[in-house]
Amino acid sequence: MKTVDMIVKTRHLFTMEGDGVGYLENTAMIIDRGRIIDFVPTDAAEDSYRAEEVLALFDHAVLPGLIDAHTHVDICIARGLAQDTDNWMFYGLQPFENAMVQEDIDASVKLGIMEAIKAGTTTIGEFSIGIEPACKFINQSGIRGNITETVRSLEERIYHPGELYEFNEDKGKRSLENNIAMYDKWHDKDHGRIKILFGPQGADFMSRELLLQVREEAKKRNTKIHMHLQQGTRETEQIMMRYGKRPVEWLKEIGYLDESLIGVHLADCTDEEAEFVAESGAGMIVCPGSIGIIDGIVCPSMAFQNAGGYVALGSDQAPGNNCHNVFNEMKLAALFNKISKKDPEVMPAWKVLRMATIEGAKALGMDQEIGSLACGKKADFIAVDLKKLTMQPIFTKPMRNIVPNLVYSARGNEVILSVVDGKIIYKDQILLNVDEEACLAEIESRIDCISERAEKEFEEIAGTNYIFMQEGKL
Ligand SMILES: [Zn+2]
Repeated sequence: MKTVDMIVKTRHLFTMEGDGVGYLENTAMIIDRGRIIDFVPTDAAEDSYRAEEVLALFDHAVLPGLIDAHTHVDICIARGLAQDTDNWMFYGLQPFENAMVQEDIDASVKLGIMEAIKAGTTTIGEFSIGIEPACKFINQSGIRGNITETVRSLEERIYHPGELYEFNEDKGKRSLENNIAMYDKWHDKDHGRIKILFGPQGADFMSRELLLQVREEAKKRNTKIHMHLQQGTRETEQIMMRYGKRPVEWLKEIGYLDESLIGVHLADCTDEEAEFVAESGAGMIVCPGSIGIIDGIVCPSMAFQNAGGYVALGSDQAPGNNCHNVFNEMKLAALFNKISKKDPEVMPAWKVLRMATIEGAKALGMDQEIGSLACGKKADFIAVDLKKLTMQPIFTKPMRNIVPNLVYSARGNEVILSVVDGKIIYKDQILLNVDEEACLAEIESRIDCISERAEKEFEEIAGTNYIFMQEGKL
């Protein structure tokens, strides 16, 4: 009899191993020192193993924790303030983002991360300017963090269409130094639960020299580059004006496309360009909800996959997307591709569930540690309550309907348990390492100040949502 940390007994285990969902029935997963060490039939588990924590999850589905590979939780406090407009950043977000002070950002990251954990996310890919508050709260909450500090040298002012961005090299250098400092401070913290990546905001936001310097620093440290890649027509126009080539073509020329790159969105890429990036070995992150809402675009993730690349899902940001919920992204990834291809057979439920787990982990280069439930891997998993109305009824014959229901019906609150590194971080609506009420009070206390500071600019910009307010539509 071996003493271990945890025995997880369940009727429905989705390991996500192999090419499908790796289903195992009536299986116990054995966990010790943060890792999965064995799988045995449930009725034999306690013949071989003894544990203080024995979880009996027979009315549940157990699966790997979900990966939300790209977020900006630092602006989560502006949720719902930037949609339904053709320039979300300027007409939507700008007055509110300009109104935010450090305390607002501190509260904002807590809101986004708490929301993500409660919706089954166990790995979050935060990308922001000044990641210290996110690092701190990720560290405290127990979620796994793949965190990226933004590097950019863009001189901030209003640019007119057709005007080339101006760079401030000192500013760019300082942001890279900050990225390095954050790496030194946080990378591999808590036995590798926190990773720090390098984050050029986009190829259009800095000089060629700085981009190459970022690459060198990332390679030196054997960490990844997490970058918005050909994310819109504005980026394409800037790179065309500066170098006479489209971003993907130019990035290839300077040696930027390889397995150390994780490219986000590819919203302005043709299928051929997406295939080209995939063939380079780079990973892709697609944010269906966010790019659908703010740009009305379905990104070429299917072309990327068809060329052999791996794609992770991201929720991006709450002002545009409105949530940090991978269940939402799974459904939208399936739905948007079916609609755009006019083909209900593309992007089946099992495929998007793989994108939220094992294929997402592959896109990020983390599949040796997470993304599926296998011996030797980190014990990052969630349990979904199958008694919730949205998961009912359960069929097991002649087909199992659990995976379609997870993708097309679940909303996230069916998750009743989240475990990271073998430690429970969320159970029965309670975040174990976080005082949720205190965080909520902190978030609420910031709203009046943001509203007051944003009011004048909101009126001056007079964007779509300002007009909607005047017309009594909000
Ligand atoms: Zn982004």
